[in-house]
Amino acid sequence: MKPIEKAIKTHALTKGEIITLLNIQDASLLYEAADRVRRESVGDGVHLRGLIEISTVCKQNCLYCGLRRDNKKIFRSRMTPKEIINHAQAAAKAGYMTIVLQGGEEDGFGADKMAGVIKGIKRLGLAVTLSLGEKSFEEYSLYRQAGADRYLLRIETTDKTLYEKLDPGMSFENRLRCLKDLGRLGYEVGSGFMVGLPGQSVDSIADDILFLKALPAHMAGIGPFIANPDTPLANCGKDNFDLSLKAMAVIRLLMPNINIPATTAMETLRPDGRFTALKSGANVIMPNVGGDMSEYYRLYPGKAKAGEVKEYRAELEKKLKAIGRFIDEGPGISKAYIAEDKK
Ligand code: SF4
Repeated sequence: MKPIEKAIKTHALTKGEIITLLNIQDASLLYEAADRVRRESVGDGVHLRGLIEISTVCKQNCLYCGLRRDNKKIFRSRMTPKEIINHAQAAAKAGYMTIVLQGGEEDGFGADKMAGVIKGIKRLGLAVTLSLGEKSFEEYSLYRQAGADRYLLRIETTDKTLYEKLDPGMSFENRLRCLKDLGRLGYEVGSGFMVGLPGQSVDSIADDILFLKALPAHMAGIGPFIANPDTPLANCGKDNFDLSLKAMAVIRLLMPNINIPATTAMETLRPDGRFTALKSGANVIMPNVGGDMSEYYRLYPGKAKAGEVKEYRAELEKKLKAIGRFIDEGPGISKAYIAEDKK
């Protein structure tokens, strides 16, 4: 049986078969298959997550990231709890059901204050997703008790040597510990990886895909690596869109019930990148609802903008309709998570 047919039937592939799919020249059949599996498994609804980038301060120094502490060209800023809640309130009014709080890895908020912010957003009736990096078990636990529903922590790459080279001072084992802790605490866990990192092989991307399946991730975000001119990897740029899209489509075939975002980085590389992703297995979009902070939150250059919260949502609704999709009005819980019966 050919790998695509096998994946549609069994949702399982060997590492060799995944590598074959990542290497195919014309991937149109792969994208069609991923779109079909997406439709049959999670339907035509697209979940919107309102993204609030709460801080551009980071104590880490990842070589690929514009927020790295050694980057002196970035404006560092941190929202106040009140500002965060206000943005969440505006998003709720515009019809968003989930808020994602994303920021550099830092301790400036203080755990108790952050727990207060989570409680404040929960009072608005919204689901809360956090993307705040590596924390202790106790801090993850505090946020969970405060009401946080989901946590996003990408593994970035499962190649330990490459990971520790690109994220100096960080340990691969601690990354794994964090993901394990999040699962133990009952979070809906989102993970993912970057595609096209200098020194990363297709073989290694196949390992990344199998890692997400084994975790298991309830959501998987695949980000094409985009070289940021203010980082040590400034000159390592190449177009990683196609390989990222193939990796994403393979993930949909292997993990039919998870949520897969059409990432902003994809939109940055292609004018309609997010819609191409939605037609190749993705079912989530994370528009920015955090106002001006997104101007400074430059993980990579040329980041696609979302515009005004209400208007952008209306515009999205129209565009989704044109491709036979619609905005799902529910909280967007991953079907894979529901199947584990953790709630
Ligand atoms: S990738 Fe995350 S942890 Fe690393 S520098 Fe950027 S914001 Fe900080």
